[in-house]
Amino acid sequence: MSEIRLKIDGKEVTVEAGKTILDAARKAGIDIPTVCHHEKLESFGGCRLCTVEAESGGRTNLVAACIYPAANDLVVWTRSPQIDKIRKVLTEQLLAYAPESEVLKAIAEDYHADKDRFPKEPSFCILCGLCVRYCAEVKKKNVVGFLDRGPCREINFIPELAAVECWDCKECFPLCPTSALQAAFVLTEALISLSPSLQKIDTRAKTASA
Ligand code: SF4
Repeated sequence: MSEIRLKIDGKEVTVEAGKTILDAARKAGIDIPTVCHHEKLESFGGCRLCTVEAESGGRTNLVAACIYPAANDLVVWTRSPQIDKIRKVLTEQLLAYAPESEVLKAIAEDYHADKDRFPKEPSFCILCGLCVRYCAEVKKKNVVGFLDRGPCREINFIPELAAVECWDCKECFPLCPTSALQAAFVLTEALISLSPSLQKIDTRAKTASA
């Protein structure tokens, strides 16, 4: 496979063709924050915290490092006053949804973000999509998905599938950068315990896995 040579923060980096700026930076030990990226999943480009400056052909653009392909002679800067400001504001916005997220609090500290800048709307889910994509792409189950659009968008377990698939899995739980996933699952469990038909599915699943 052909190799790509680029420069990140003044450092020469070589990666395989097809890799992204984020892959190249991680290979070089350069930290770029992200809350929606996972190495086992397709790149999503959702949170935009990984925004960097990429110079090519005399032009400089702000790009999402997790989806922008590494290319020969690309010059990348991962920190600048503009980048830091973008990350600061994005983190402040995300903290309005998930003020107790330890992942976000750590990023906020690095970028001097004010956790009280925006009015709190604690849905707790920051719609990073890690749980949804992990369940679909790695587990091939599609038990958890997005419901609704725009400001009403939220994640939701399908109770009939959760009753069968989730008890022995829960692999998505540690991926969640907030407490939203556990909360949604607890709600689903409550729903299952209230529904006699779902209880039957649950009992059969537990018997089968015993
Ligand atoms: S529940 Fe957690 S992992 Fe799933 S989309 Fe929301 S923040 Fe991301």
